[in-house]
Amino acid sequence: MNKESKMYSILKEKCPVCHKGNAFISTKKYDLKTFHKMPIRCEHCNHKFEIEGGFWQGAMYVSYGLTVAFSIATFVITYLIYPETDAWYYIIIISLVSLFLAPVNYRFSRMIWMNIFSSYNPEKAK
Ligand SMILES: [Zn+2]
Repeated sequence: MNKESKMYSILKEKCPVCHKGNAFISTKKYDLKTFHKMPIRCEHCNHKFEIEGGFWQGAMYVSYGLTVAFSIATFVITYLIYPETDAWYYIIIISLVSLFLAPVNYRFSRMIWMNIFSSYNPEKAK
C-alpha cells in the first residue's frame, strides 16, 4: 500500500500528516477501556489531532454513514443466506452486528474525519 495515501493513514490508524505516529494509544480495537483513547498530539510530528473544539462531532456524521453501510451489507448478507427470515430477525441481527462493530466504527470514522481536514506532508514525515 502507498504510504503517502490517505487510505494508508486510515487503515493503519496513523497520523494524517506524517503517517508515522499512532493516532490511538492502544492498537487493540476491542479493549473496551482503551480503544477510544487518543494522544492529544502526534508523537512524531506534533500535529494536534483535535484541530478545534468540537472537532470530533463531525466524525459522528461519518460514523452514521458507516453504520448505514454496515447495516445494509448485513441485511443483504442475511437475506442471501436466509431469504424467508422474519423482519424481527433482521432487526436483531443488524443491531448485534452494529454493536459488535461499534469500536471499529468509532476509530474508522475518526480516522476518515481527520484525513478530510489534514493532508500528508513529506517534510513532517522525516
Ligand atoms: Zn504525525
